[in-house]
Amino acid sequence: MATTYFGLGGNIGDRFAYLQDAIRGLADFCVIEATSRVYETAPVHVTDQPRFLNMAVRARTDLAPRTLLTHIQGVENRLGRVRNLRWGPRVIDIDILLYADRIVDEADLTVPHPRMAERRFVLAPLADIAAAAILPSTDRTVSDLLAALPPDDDILMMAESVWDVERGEAPKAALSG
Ligand code: ATP
Ligand code: MG
Ligand code: MG
Repeated sequence: MATTYFGLGGNIGDRFAYLQDAIRGLADFCVIEATSRVYETAPVHVTDQPRFLNMAVRARTDLAPRTLLTHIQGVENRLGRVRNLRWGPRVIDIDILLYADRIVDEADLTVPHPRMAERRFVLAPLADIAAAAILPSTDRTVSDLLAALPPDDDILMMAESVWDVERGEAPKAALSG
């Protein structure tokens, strides 16, 4: 079995519920080992859209990376993801961030995820569950990458766990860094 990390995010509808449903979907073909805290983050790339909830998940799987991609796209589709605008609003996005120490460089699959190192919305949750994980073929850990990002305090910690959410609760803490 390989250890893999997923990045999850969504900004339409009941964002917590979509994260919970996504984890349930992943559990159909992975063993979920750990989940990060849940963060509210500002949209990037396309900034004129609602704020996102983001989290990261550690799982173990027997599936090869390509098969895993097909399965996670199945979860996205079942939850009602519609693809139109690139980087636009979505009920759920599930990306493969890391897969063991593998490097995959194919037309429709790149692992580690090619934009993770520049994204606080990916690295902040990932650091909750994989701070010491090293990016393959580098000597940088997830926490190194997070520390190297420019300061941005527009990220809020919303919940310790996706399972402990009380709907409508105010953000628990503003993170700076
Ligand atoms: P970004 O990749 O910048 O986070 P996105 O997640 O919104 O953008 P999607 O529309 O979810 O992009 O996916 C576009 C394509 O990205 C997918 O069809 C898939 O083939 C490809 N892809 C490449 N590498 C990965 C990866 N590591 N995880 C998930 N999808 C990937
Ligand atoms: Mg993505
Ligand atoms: Mg994606």
